Amino acid sequence: MRRPLLVANWKMHKSVAEAEDFAAALLPLLPPAGAELAIAPPFTALAALGRALRGSPVLLAAQNANPAESGAFTGEVAPAMLAELGCRYVIAGHSERRGLYGESDDFVAAKVCALLAAGLRPIVCVGESLEVRRAGGGAAEVVCRQLQNSLAGVPAGLAAELAVAYEPIWAIGTGETATPQAAQQMHAALREKLRGLFGAAAEAIRIQYGGSVKPGNAAALLAQPDIDGALVGGASLNPESFAALAAESGGAS
Ligand code: PEP
Repeated sequence: MRRPLLVANWKMHKSVAEAEDFAAALLPLLPPAGAELAIAPPFTALAALGRALRGSPVLLAAQNANPAESGAFTGEVAPAMLAELGCRYVIAGHSERRGLYGESDDFVAAKVCALLAAGLRPIVCVGESLEVRRAGGGAAEVVCRQLQNSLAGVPAGLAAELAVAYEPIWAIGTGETATPQAAQQMHAALREKLRGLFGAAAEAIRIQYGGSVKPGNAAALLAQPDIDGALVGGASLNPESFAALAAESGGAS
């Protein structure tokens, strides 16, 4: 039985003060027992949000990291720096980073390996474009190949530390969501790919769904056997809405 994982991806939203206010408003609203919860704020709010969440059931996550340990990488942040701030999860290969900043599967794989080496848990994002979806039939093959390539070099012994997020690009921030049945089909294909790569460890890997998840549609998605949580952008920016998602995901613990 996999414990659902609900992660807020705030993208480039919220100042330090806004992140602190969010934590103060969220914590009293959280339902008891159930999903594992994490918030990925902008880098600038990590330290303050980490302090505000200390002692609560909500973990700290980051939105990105560079695969290198240190060096001349202006503007980048290394995995160990995130671990030092108390991050548990780090999003790797979000479609916005792949699309806007040219991150390749190889680069994402290097990042995933570096995160694991630093004791962090990567959330590896994959998903097809609208073009691929419209072409019909081949989306599962494309997304499974993307997953395999983005996990190159991951030691089987660390596979259980991974989470995967299936995020169809056409559903991110658009208000359009994959139906629970269509999402389940893709998640089952991804699980099969993970079994091929890692054997029995695949059963422990949470596969989240992402793409316009909001209160009202999360429960039906999470009721599917291979959907083990959600990665949420827009609907995670409001404490009431994130608390409602936590309740639909089975509470917090
Ligand atoms: C995301 O960016 O990971 C995401 C799923 O965004 P939204 O929930 O806004 O579609």
